[in-house]
Amino acid sequence: MTRLVLVLGDQLSLGLSALRAADPARDVVVMAEVEAEGRYVPHHPQKIALILSAMRHFAQELRAAGWQVAYTRLDDPENSHSIGGELVRRAAEFGAREVLATRAGEWRLITALEEVPLTLRVLPDDRFLCSEPEFAAWVEGRKQLRMEWFYREMRRKTGLLMEGDQPVGGQWNFDHDNRKAAKADLFRPRPPRFAPDAVTQEVLALVAARFGAHFGRLEPFGWAVTRGQALDALAWFIAQALPRFGDEQDAMLAADPTLSHSLLSPYLNIGLLAPMEVCEAAAEAYAAGKAPLNAVEGFIRQIIGWREFVRGIYMRHGPGYADQNALEAGRALPALYWGAKTDMACLSHAVGQTRDLAYAHHIQRLMVTGNFALLAGISPQALHEWYLSVYVDAFEWVEAPNTIGMSQFADGGVLGSKPYAASGAYIDRQSDYCGGCRYKVAQKTGEGACPFNLLYWDFLLRHRARFAGNPRMAQMYRTWDKMDGSRKAATLAEAEAFLARLDAGKTV
Ligand SMILES: Cc1cc2nc3c(=O)[nH]c(=O)nc-3n(C[C@H](O)[C@H](O)[C@H](O)COP(=O)(O)OP(=O)(O)OC[C@H]3O[C@@H](n4cnc5c(N)ncnc54)[C@H](O)[C@@H]3O)c2cc1C
Ligand code: SF4
Repeated sequence: MTRLVLVLGDQLSLGLSALRAADPARDVVVMAEVEAEGRYVPHHPQKIALILSAMRHFAQELRAAGWQVAYTRLDDPENSHSIGGELVRRAAEFGAREVLATRAGEWRLITALEEVPLTLRVLPDDRFLCSEPEFAAWVEGRKQLRMEWFYREMRRKTGLLMEGDQPVGGQWNFDHDNRKAAKADLFRPRPPRFAPDAVTQEVLALVAARFGAHFGRLEPFGWAVTRGQALDALAWFIAQALPRFGDEQDAMLAADPTLSHSLLSPYLNIGLLAPMEVCEAAAEAYAAGKAPLNAVEGFIRQIIGWREFVRGIYMRHGPGYADQNALEAGRALPALYWGAKTDMACLSHAVGQTRDLAYAHHIQRLMVTGNFALLAGISPQALHEWYLSVYVDAFEWVEAPNTIGMSQFADGGVLGSKPYAASGAYIDRQSDYCGGCRYKVAQKTGEGACPFNLLYWDFLLRHRARFAGNPRMAQMYRTWDKMDGSRKAATLAEAEAFLARLDAGKTV
C-alpha cells in the first residue's frame, strides 16, 4: 500500500530520514504551503518567500530524483491550509493510511501531527549531530548545563579540530581573541546574493499579495533557494569571510550589517546545508592554512556547540519552553521594535537592518535588541514572538532558547549562568553606533545620558535578590553600593522616567 512521506518546509534535505525510509516506487511525498504556517506569527516576508521558493525548488529536485510529489501551493483552491488537513486529504487521494515523517523541529507541529487521524511513523531528525537520547545522557546527573562542556564532547565525537583526544592548538576555545572592534573597510567582501529565478519571482508576487502587510521589506530578495546556491554561499564564506570571522565576530558597524558573518543559518535550518559539511569545510580551510585557528574554532563552536546545545535544551524541556518568565517581566514590546522612530542609534540600526534584510548578527540580537528588552523588563513572550517573526533563520527550536534562555534569562539560568545585561559602554566598545547617537554614551545621568546606562542599574537593582550572590555579578553590586547617593537616586529616577516615556509610546 502507498505511504505518504511528509516533508516540511525546514526539512529540505535529500538525505532526510523519512525519505531514506521510503520507497520512491511506491510512496508519495507530501509537501504543502499552508496559511497556518505563514501566519502563526507575522513572519518577515523574506522568510516566507525563502521557505516557499526553497520548497518549490526542492519538490523539483525530488521529482528529478524519481519521487512522486503531491505538492499543495498556497493558492490551490483545494488547500485545507493546515499540515494535518493536507495529510488527510492526500491519504484519501492516494488510498494511504500510513505517514512517514521526520520528527518536526517545534513542539507546536509535533503536537499537531500527533492528532492527525492516520498512522504516523516518526523517525529521528538525524541531521542534528547530537541525538535527543545522547543529549539526555549528557544531561543526566549534571547540576548545571554549560555549553562549553557539551561542546568539548561534540569536538571529541566529531573529531573536528582534534589531534587524538587533544584539541588542535592546545586549547578548546579561543574566544578571548575574538572580542575585537571592527573598522569600516570598503574592501570587506560582500556576501553573495542570488538573483530570483522564475520560481522565486512567482513566490515573491504571492508573498507580496498575501503577506505584504507584515513587518519587513520583501525586496530586494537575494537569498539562496536551492542546495546548489547554498553550497555557493558556503564556498564564498569559507574563502572570503572565514579568515576574519573570529576577529569581527563580536563587532558591530552601522554601515556594514553583516561584517564577516556567514549568513548560513537559514540554509542550515531549512536543510539545504548540513552542519557537518559546513564545519568540515571550515576545518579544511584551517588545515590548508587559509584561515586562522581562532576564526575556525569560533565558527565550528557556534555550530556543533551552540546550535546543538540549544536544540538539545529545547527538545528536552518539552512544550512550553517559550512560556517561561523567571524574571517576571511584563512590559509591552515598544513600537520601536516594529520600526517606530527611536533616537537610540544602536536600536535604530539593528531594527532597520532587520526590516530590510531579515537578518541581524548574533551580537546585534543579543547585546542590542535583546539587552534593551532585558534591561527594560519587556515580556519575554512578546519578544520571543518578535524574534520568531522577523529573522529569516527563525525556527522555534533555535530561536526560543536563544531568546527566552540566553538573552532574557527567562528560563531561570538553565541555558546561561548569568544574564547578558550590559550598559552603553559595551555597545560603544564593540560598535561605531554611539558616535552618531543623540544620547551620550559616556554620560551616566542627566540630559542626554545613554538609556542603557540608566536601565542597566535599574535592572540590577530590581533583581538584586536573585543575582547578588552570583560570583560573576557580585562586583557590579559592590560598585553600586560604593556609588554616591545622589547619583544613585538620579539614576533610578531617570530610569523610571525613561520607562514611563517608553510606555506612553513617546519617541525615546
Ligand atoms: C535573541 C536571539 C535570537 C536568535 N534567534 C535565532 C534563530 O531564530 N535562528 C537561528 O538560527 N539563530 C538564532 N540566534 C543565534 C544567532 O544569532 C544566529 O544563528 C546567527 O546570527 C545567524 O547568522 P549567521 O549565519 O551569519 O551566523 P554566524 O555568526 O556566521 O555563525 C555561524 C553559525 O553558527 C550557528 N549559531 C551561531 N550562534 C548560534 C546560537 N546562539 N544558537 C544557535 N546557533 C548558532 C548558526 O547556525 C550560524 O549560521 C539567535 C540569537 C539571539 C541572541
Ligand atoms: S549612546 Fe547609548 S543608545 Fe546611543 S548608540 Fe550608544 S549605546 Fe545605543
